[in-house]
Amino acid sequence: MGLDLLIRNATVVDGSGAPRYRSDVGVCNGRIVELGRIRASAQRTIKADGLILAPGFIDGHTHMDAQVAWDPIGSCSCWHGVTSVIMGNCGFALAPCKPQDREWFARCLEAVEDIPTEAMMTGIDWTWETFPDYLANVERLPKGLNYGMYLGHSALRMYVMGERALETRATADDLHRMRDIVQQALRAGAMGFSSSIATTHVTPSGSPVASRIADWAEIEYLVGAMAEFNAGIFQIGPDISGGVAHRACLERLKQLAIESGRPVMFGTLSTRQGIEPLPWQSQVAAIDATVAEGGRMFGQTTTRPIIAVFSLKSYLPFDGLPAWRTVRSLPLEVQQQRFADPEVRRQLVAAEAEMKPRDNSLQGGGAATTDPRKPDYRNFYALRGVDLDDPTVDELAQTSSKHPVEVMLDLMRDNEDQLFVQLLVNESPDDVLGMLQHPRTLATFSDSGAHVCQEMGSSLQTHLLSYWVRDKQVFTLEEAIRMLTFDNASAWELPDRGLIRTGYAADLVLFDEARVKPRLPTVERDLPGGARRLVQKAEGIAATIVNGVVAIEDGESTGQYAGQVLKGPLAS
Ligand SMILES: [Zn+2]
Repeated sequence: MGLDLLIRNATVVDGSGAPRYRSDVGVCNGRIVELGRIRASAQRTIKADGLILAPGFIDGHTHMDAQVAWDPIGSCSCWHGVTSVIMGNCGFALAPCKPQDREWFARCLEAVEDIPTEAMMTGIDWTWETFPDYLANVERLPKGLNYGMYLGHSALRMYVMGERALETRATADDLHRMRDIVQQALRAGAMGFSSSIATTHVTPSGSPVASRIADWAEIEYLVGAMAEFNAGIFQIGPDISGGVAHRACLERLKQLAIESGRPVMFGTLSTRQGIEPLPWQSQVAAIDATVAEGGRMFGQTTTRPIIAVFSLKSYLPFDGLPAWRTVRSLPLEVQQQRFADPEVRRQLVAAEAEMKPRDNSLQGGGAATTDPRKPDYRNFYALRGVDLDDPTVDELAQTSSKHPVEVMLDLMRDNEDQLFVQLLVNESPDDVLGMLQHPRTLATFSDSGAHVCQEMGSSLQTHLLSYWVRDKQVFTLEEAIRMLTFDNASAWELPDRGLIRTGYAADLVLFDEARVKPRLPTVERDLPGGARRLVQKAEGIAATIVNGVVAIEDGESTGQYAGQVLKGPLAS
């Protein structure tokens, strides 16, 4: 039999956690059809000597719902070995949506996820109203990744209840209509239903997003609509404010998982922000307790700290201060000249003293960049590399006897691409490791497609391989690959992905284990309408193959888009 693609002499890490072995891999019609020493001819052969071949990585927590319309390659995830993503997380989605509400939906998405409304209004050919229409639209789009999607609670509520969604409880009639739409979405291929009660999720006016207006009875009713069919995953942005509300949320989720029988997923985090410091241990304990009593529950854990990113070309923490606003409205080179002017420096440093002090409310990447408090300079890094082991701005200020703001001005004057990061969540690598090592957490949660100019989580896969596997040696490569592939495929019930086996979809990533590593992010103006975003690529990845087609080669798109829609079990 002639093959479409033959990968010759790869070191196969097959996703199961089993030790590596050397093999050729033959691909035909988008499937892995042959392993071993292959003698058949192929249309294309890739020599893989010395390279690792793994199943393509699966990221279950993204917000690429809007971006999929204008970005066929699926950046920035596509540069980190990802071949499948789940979108529609945390209740945010673009369907169902009435035509007259499109801009309202876009503004709400911008407020939470920093996806510019302008990009959405110009970059999307917005033809759908219902969830099945939206899914069919994604199916038609050229796409370099596979996309699964949830029905989002905030979108659902706004569709059914209109502006009441942001104010009141649902009536019995609202609930029935929402239930019907949940079941319609499952039949169309939704992976499940998502929601959020996270205090960080707010509308443009600062009020809670629609899903946060719902009571628990509504959430239980809608998850119950999935339970009737014994299908669908429930994902939620949990209350992470710390203290009583957080513990009550975990208890509710436990009961929901046990009663509905549906898998419940939420992000596990550790943070010192908030009313009480929020340790991850209580979250995984709640997961273990839920499972012990018969529920299914997963924690989603990124592999790194969650950070707010600042730079001259994007946001700075000081942008809202009048003295800064004057300077920041100037062209970049002029700003850099001003930073050297002693009088301007004096004003800029003095203005910083008036910033909002750090309080005990929890800020996510959104508020931390657009409504920032005074930086915590001991936890604020001037990036040189990507491992967050650079000196803090506080340390640089002490060694140079300068004010922290002067340190930043000097770095930005000399380098227009200088990045600064404020650690928000998962500040301590030990906490990240503890979560990752827990057997009921999933290595996922890039938030890819969201916070486009605020955070950069899309490198979680390459960070796991470079930092935790190669540098810290706390996971074997086989273990880490299993976390990024088979474990996630199992949790999202993707029956034919996440392993290198004959018959499986040929989603593959070929990389150099000695070199794989995220690059420093850059700020680019490449969104529809020219809006800016953070872009992060990786090194050491030779090729990414999606459904048997080479999608990315040496970091560049091949212009071939073989991505598919991943559908839940009820899809007809
Ligand atoms: Zn999210």
